[in-house]
Amino acid sequence: MKDRKLLMIPGPIEFTPEVLRAMGMPTTSHVAPNFIEAFGQALERLRQVFLCPSGQPFVVAGSGSLAMDMAAANLVEPGDKALVVNTGYFGDRFGDILERYGATVTYARAPAVGDAPALEDVEAALKGGAYKLMTITHVDTSTAVCADVKGLAALGRQYDTLVVVDGVCSVAGEEMRQEKWGIDLALTASQKAIGVPPGLALVVAGPRALDAFHERKAPVGSYYADWTQWLPVMEAYEARKPSYYGTPAVNLLWALNVSLGQILDEGMEARFARHRRLSDAFKAAVAALGMGQVPVSADKTATTLTAPYFPAGVDRSMLAHVKEAGVIVAGGLHPAIKAKYFRVGHMGVVSASDILATVGAIEYGLAQAGYEFEPGAGLSAAQAALLRR
Ligand SMILES: *Cc1c(COP(=O)(O)O)cnc(C)c1O
Repeated sequence: MKDRKLLMIPGPIEFTPEVLRAMGMPTTSHVAPNFIEAFGQALERLRQVFLCPSGQPFVVAGSGSLAMDMAAANLVEPGDKALVVNTGYFGDRFGDILERYGATVTYARAPAVGDAPALEDVEAALKGGAYKLMTITHVDTSTAVCADVKGLAALGRQYDTLVVVDGVCSVAGEEMRQEKWGIDLALTASQKAIGVPPGLALVVAGPRALDAFHERKAPVGSYYADWTQWLPVMEAYEARKPSYYGTPAVNLLWALNVSLGQILDEGMEARFARHRRLSDAFKAAVAALGMGQVPVSADKTATTLTAPYFPAGVDRSMLAHVKEAGVIVAGGLHPAIKAKYFRVGHMGVVSASDILATVGAIEYGLAQAGYEFEPGAGLSAAQAALLRR
């Protein structure tokens, strides 16, 4: 294909031909029998992808930020206390959203950019806090830091706090077991590891989150995000009955159902393992090329993306050369280090050859930027890692 570029940013990602074909199907009524079937099936499949058999899925037209908004709007009542485990840009955003609905927000902050707050510090905050909920950004896309969701969620349970996970850059890539780990609400968006073009907010609420919603005294402060309206709609579609509140994004839902089917065909365990393997190979290449990474240690690093620092003497103008070589990667996002690093997403349908193509394009970019290194060093490290497993 002429002018074909490989899109290796942390969302939107590359999509499968089957998903893109579903986007192009004739748009039917939102109450047509074939659409009701697809929507119902997508809801059932979401429970499996989130590994939350007892969860209630919600699918609404919007981006990941709407999913965050929906969580806050339905769980927070004015005056509630919320703890935000903050590992970057999207932790700040969650705090802002919670405040908008009247929560008093406390941050458990990482000691430095690229780090995560220690479990002991989060526990100390939870102990005295009487928090109604805590939020965790599973993978903060601004730092590539992966939070210890399992450990943090266990603390949330221990201190009787609702556990809300922003999984926008993790669900269906990074290992996340919503029910087993005790996560009360997890959310994502279509365009990241779920593998569907942008436009769907996806939320799975567990029983404790739904109880908290049913027990609230104050009305929900958002008209569009209100579960009072959306819950009966989701229940109806899953029972294969027509329903309406706001018109569903018909074509995106077809695409979602196709992509969830592909994800489940691969299997969640195989999918987590593939993301780990490809991430390890890419990170080995980054190290072999003499670049550091934003996360302070390997155990705090995501498998859905990598955030390398530019080497000395190289700046973001290098990214244009990477693009000349056919691969699009993303610039920095975290305000404190924005100009010093870049981001490469490797989630969804990403393959070993995509990883090698990306490393090759980055080597081209580094060479164009005048950086001295042994050509092929990154490719060799990535290939060695791939061949080891
Ligand atoms: C992308 C992202 C968001 C925001 O999603 P939008 O679809 O851009 O609104 C929120 N949180 C995380 C962790 C993300 O990666």
